[in-house]
Amino acid sequence: MSAELDELYQSIILDHNRRPKNFREMEDATAKADGVNPLCGDQLTVWLKMDGDQIADVSFRGQGCAISKASASMMTQVVKGKSRTDAEQLFTDVHALVTGKPTGADVGSLKALSGVSKFPLRVKCASLAWHAMHSALQGSAAPVSTEAEGPGSAS
Ligand code: ZN
Repeated sequence: MSAELDELYQSIILDHNRRPKNFREMEDATAKADGVNPLCGDQLTVWLKMDGDQIADVSFRGQGCAISKASASMMTQVVKGKSRTDAEQLFTDVHALVTGKPTGADVGSLKALSGVSKFPLRVKCASLAWHAMHSALQGSAAPVSTEAEGPGSAS
């Protein structure tokens, strides 16, 4: 990747971090999921409003590092209006992208997240909101953790 692209991607991430999109609670959500990344201290909640098979609205709140927030912000932007199937496909594509195994799918501005594949600890920051969105789509009420913690583990 060229240095110019690196810089462009970095500015996209910083911009989303400064002015996150859809950063609000949703009163009339039909699904929600919490995500935590204990390694970094990122935690967020994703709300979805489904209209049949379509994501009519999506929002998030939380706190964490710039990567986790920017990734969540971008996630809400791209999955809004998508069908359940398309959103799940994006989840797969983005997960592959940040883990350094791009599927070759055109993910547009989400390419900005590809840089994190070089930093294993950051991969979890970038994928957190996506896991939460995925979990909300599945209708799972259990909080998502990037660490496989058993019930009752104290921290
Ligand atoms: Zn983080």
